[in-house]
Amino acid sequence: MIMKFAIFSKSGHEDLVKQLSNKLIDKSFINDENNPDIVFSIGGDGTFLRAVHKYIDILDHLKFVGINKGSLGFLYDFAIDDFDNLLSDLVKGNYLVKELPLIKGEINDNKTIYALNEIRIENPFHTLTSDVFINEDKLETFRGNGLVVASSLGSSAYNKSLGGALIDNDLCALELTEIASINNNVYRSLGSSFVIEGKKSISFKGNLNECVVGFDCLTSNDNLKEIVISYSDKKVRVIYSKDHSYVKRIRKSFVLC
Ligand code: NAP
Ligand code: MN
Repeated sequence: MIMKFAIFSKSGHEDLVKQLSNKLIDKSFINDENNPDIVFSIGGDGTFLRAVHKYIDILDHLKFVGINKGSLGFLYDFAIDDFDNLLSDLVKGNYLVKELPLIKGEINDNKTIYALNEIRIENPFHTLTSDVFINEDKLETFRGNGLVVASSLGSSAYNKSLGGALIDNDLCALELTEIASINNNVYRSLGSSFVIEGKKSISFKGNLNECVVGFDCLTSNDNLKEIVISYSDKKVRVIYSKDHSYVKRIRKSFVLC
């Protein structure tokens, strides 16, 4: 089967990209940056996230494969030295495909953003005040620096730095985590992360016009009044090695030094 490929890499790897491209063409792959079947992402997680956002409108007929080069590479199963083995496994169909669901944020009822890791609101100027709802139920009025809603996959990213728990990627859930909440005799919010079932939504409502909305490596300024965050029906299909395991991945990225 002829496969069209694109290589997405962080800058500075032009020679490497050329070299890998030639190896792929030798195996009858065809270079097609705009309409590939398979996207090779070379770099780290940030590169992977950018590659996903570049192809966000055609995700349903794409597979991604991540090749780590000089970064944490949590999302990656392959290192650059494995490329020849990876290529022969690709040709033989000897790999695992995992579907990673994206979350979405519906902003002011007129714009939708997508994220693989998390959607966050942050106020860099003043205390952020937002009502927080799980489905229709009000949880709290939050005051602090910001709020993060992570997917299971994104639980090991910004969410983890904020003290949020890791969520096994085989479990579909949303995790709400606070950024520097104010808790005193006047103001009170939950004060811990809250993992909710993946079919529910988390909404932020209020006077949020100073907030920056962050989604993965991107941000947007939208005169925010309301954002409703839930799982979308978009999925990223990723090629992993056959012995892929979430626990091994966590150990490699966070436990071993
Ligand atoms: P970055 O500043 O390079 O990312 C921060 C670190 O998070 C990098 O080491 C990155 O790995 C790692 N990372 C990204 N996604 C991950 C995941 N799902 N699990 C475990 N680690 C992960 O920025 P970036 O490369 O553009 O990535 C954007 C992401 O950065 C956002 O989605 C957010 O989660 C994260 N971020 C984290 C903080 C924080 O922890 N304080 C603050 C802002 C943003 P690589 O080195 O392989 O890129
Ligand atoms: Mn990065």
